[in-house]
Amino acid sequence: MLPTRKHRIALISVDGDPAAEIGQEEAGGQNVYVRQVGYALAEQGWQVDMFTRQSSPEQATIVQHGPLCRTIRLKTGPTEFIGRDHLFEHLPEFIAEFQTFQREQGFQYRLIHTNYWLSSWVGMELKKQQPLIQLHTYHSLGTVKYSAISDIPAIASKRIAVEKACLETVDRVVATSPQEQQHMRRLVSTKGKIEVIPCGTDVDKFGLIQRSAARQELGIAPDVKMILYVGRFDQRKGIETLVRAVAKSSLRDHANLQLVIGGGYRPGHSDGIERDRIASIVAELGLENCTTFPGRLDEAVIPSYYAAADVCVVPSHYEPFGLVAIEAMASQTPVVASDVGGLQFTVVPEVTGLLVPPKDEVAFATAIDRILLNPNWRDQLGEAGRQRVEIAFSWYSVASRLTQIYTHLLAQTMPSIESKPQIAA
Ligand code: UDP
Repeated sequence: MLPTRKHRIALISVDGDPAAEIGQEEAGGQNVYVRQVGYALAEQGWQVDMFTRQSSPEQATIVQHGPLCRTIRLKTGPTEFIGRDHLFEHLPEFIAEFQTFQREQGFQYRLIHTNYWLSSWVGMELKKQQPLIQLHTYHSLGTVKYSAISDIPAIASKRIAVEKACLETVDRVVATSPQEQQHMRRLVSTKGKIEVIPCGTDVDKFGLIQRSAARQELGIAPDVKMILYVGRFDQRKGIETLVRAVAKSSLRDHANLQLVIGGGYRPGHSDGIERDRIASIVAELGLENCTTFPGRLDEAVIPSYYAAADVCVVPSHYEPFGLVAIEAMASQTPVVASDVGGLQFTVVPEVTGLLVPPKDEVAFATAIDRILLNPNWRDQLGEAGRQRVEIAFSWYSVASRLTQIYTHLLAQTMPSIESKPQIAA
């Protein structure tokens, strides 16, 4: 059966709701990616339906983001937050709901782009039931994750098997950095088709406010040396390393040193527990006076935080991409990051920031100090970062690359599809 509307596509992200508030438990880069890719594809003429699961009864079933882009929340297990490691058993219900939705709408999607391994399984199952082109973005690889943690969850072997089957069988896998591609080839499979398309950032949202104006807005004095962390509270984000590095900084007794740790958390949940652990290390190291936890930074304030900072630190143990690094760079703020994964791709050492070994608090302290002690160099690094983002990392270019691949794959299986998506009137 041919779809009634030729250019309707589905982005599937069962666990990462594109319409959710970003910056707290299990809502981070993947949600931003799906949402921004969805918006950008819609601007290029695709009719984009983004599917996720409903995780609270208050959530609307459909969120219309624009004429061509909406989020659709399907019932999948109990309507409450369920951690990723416990979602797999509910996926058959997601598939059944997806099929019901298609039936009710009277069409079948011909192309889906799945996100994270759970959705890759959904896509592969759907492919058994209808003709379908599937693209996939991993966002994180089980093999990489499990090599770095000691408490391996029960679902691990399933995840690893699904990730391998996905790479070997779907129509195209999107790696967000050459480093992620290498990991896939080395650790997942030598078979399958991979395309490297980096993530993007909103160059019109970040970088429009100057440091002095941003500080005035946030009430931060001009002579403060401000170190910024932005992200979820998760042990693998390495916030502990950052705090210990600040304690070792030659500037630690500088009256104006300020460490800002931005990110949402919910008491009693895993992010709340990690936030409390970090706060106790801050107290133990005597850094309470110079550390603040502003909580989740929403859309309205986040550009000012990035712009106000002298340096943004991304101390993750691993990142397949790491959106925070390019958001800081877009805001003309240099980045000190762990020398891992996609951060090796986005941050150019000595040009847009510095890369140091993960978990090495002394190396982080040295790198942070180098930037804090040299404001002229900080500004040069910031300018180069902005340039790099403008050239290499916009959502527009991500969507253009995806459009090329989608169109090519659709044309291969459905020759009647025109070479370009129609721009909606
Ligand atoms: N973020 C936010 N507010 C916060 C903390 C994080 O909006 O308080 C956003 C941040 O701007 C970025 C995303 O969450 O867009 C985190 O993405 P990243 O790829 O750095 O990390 P992930 O969450 O995927 O591990």
